Amino acid sequence: MYTDIAVIGGGASGYAAAIAAKEKAPSASVTIYERLDKTGRKIIASGNGKCNLSNVDITAANYHGSFDVMEILGKTPDCKSFFTDKLGVMLSVGSEGRTGGVYPRSNSSATVLNALRIKAAELGIEEVCGCMVTGLSPVKNGFQLETSTGRVTASRVIAAAGGYAGPSFGTDGSFLRILKDMGLRTAKICPAVGPLKVGADRLKGLKGVRIKGSISAVSEGRTLRTEQGEIQFNENTISGICVFNLAYLFQEYEGKLELSADLLPDLSEAEIADILFTARRNRKELPAYEILTGIFVKNLAVYLIKNVLGRSPDEKAENIGGKEIKQLASAIKGLVFPITGCAAWQNAQVTCGGIHRSCVDDKLCSTAYRGLYLCGEILDVAGDCGGYNLQWAWSSGIWAGMNCAESLKGGRK
Ligand SMILES: Cc1cc2nc3c(=O)[nH]c(=O)nc-3n(C[C@H](O)[C@H](O)[C@H](O)COP(=O)(O)OP(=O)(O)OC[C@H]3O[C@@H](n4cnc5c(N)ncnc54)[C@H](O)[C@@H]3O)c2cc1C
Repeated sequence: MYTDIAVIGGGASGYAAAIAAKEKAPSASVTIYERLDKTGRKIIASGNGKCNLSNVDITAANYHGSFDVMEILGKTPDCKSFFTDKLGVMLSVGSEGRTGGVYPRSNSSATVLNALRIKAAELGIEEVCGCMVTGLSPVKNGFQLETSTGRVTASRVIAAAGGYAGPSFGTDGSFLRILKDMGLRTAKICPAVGPLKVGADRLKGLKGVRIKGSISAVSEGRTLRTEQGEIQFNENTISGICVFNLAYLFQEYEGKLELSADLLPDLSEAEIADILFTARRNRKELPAYEILTGIFVKNLAVYLIKNVLGRSPDEKAENIGGKEIKQLASAIKGLVFPITGCAAWQNAQVTCGGIHRSCVDDKLCSTAYRGLYLCGEILDVAGDCGGYNLQWAWSSGIWAGMNCAESLKGGRK
């Protein structure tokens, strides 16, 4: 079988690339090869089924990795031009979840996928599902793809197969490994936009506790980044969107990363100490953890008395000394958890690492294999939670698709 442009992966970046390529070169045959029985499984799951497809507030600080994401975003249509003007998807800025998140007005991710499918069909893009690409090699005038349903030759290839995150949506990193075997370099790969692991002993008693606070990633005494939001304590992980946005730092600071939680960010340490001194005075006959009643849920109060003071939570409140009250106030402003690992791939939304910027040119074409374009999460870009990753998938897909189609004008490779 032959196609002019083979797009590997029917996800967000694959659709964007195929549509952009076919619009640029209408006479070229463009085929999407998707290993699952349906395209767009991850699009459907995104944003809890609502698809947080972009954000109104995007800066370079929202992206991590070796690419200048803003440069590519600046060269491609914004989400309104692509989704509303081209695909007919009405958008709204979400009132829940991440600030500034852009969603389809229907609040349903199916709306986005259906619009992409309709556009692809209207343009004559072919979709081959249940077809896993297992090998890629350069041949005269193009590439040969080994697939689970047979051999395909293509003049150009767009690799849009994603990374390792969310393997149940088709992304097990297999195509990234194929590219690595071909000699393309990756940055260190680890899960991002997911929970961070803490030794289970450090979280004993905290499972199920949720608190609105501020959380900082700290390495060797240096604060790397601080986020606000709901901090969630689980059996051996800490999660919540604020933690998800710090997870990419594990890639660089593995073994020397801590989370420091400020459980009452709107109060100073001295103000907290005052409140605790008053509570101790008023509740002196009660168990020590009752000093914290009214501020925290019981499990957190008990945890603080046990772990910060090394006291039994049933100790009488009046036996807690002034120095210990100050110790408690200090811990509430900076409760430290050493990070021992990152999320399992099935709990991560994004792959940190991927094909390094040095392997592609400004047009997202491989420098080693001319005619091979790359886009989306397969590249070394990890965005924050809040629509940034899908925006990268659309923009990099459009950019790779346009450039790939443009290169066909120069004839076969
Ligand atoms: C649960 C979840 C929720 C998320 N929610 C959001 C959100 O709301 N907002 C946001 O911005 N980001 C979100 N993300 C991240 C975002 O979905 C991804 O970054 C984005 O979809 C990446 O697009 P992509 O096209 O690069 O890869 P993918 O969307 O992962 O698509 C890759 C496709 O390639 C196919 N494939 C893989 N290997 C092969 C192969 N060898 N042969 C053929 N096909 C192959 C896969 O089956 C898949 O369909 C979420 C991620 C997850 C897991």
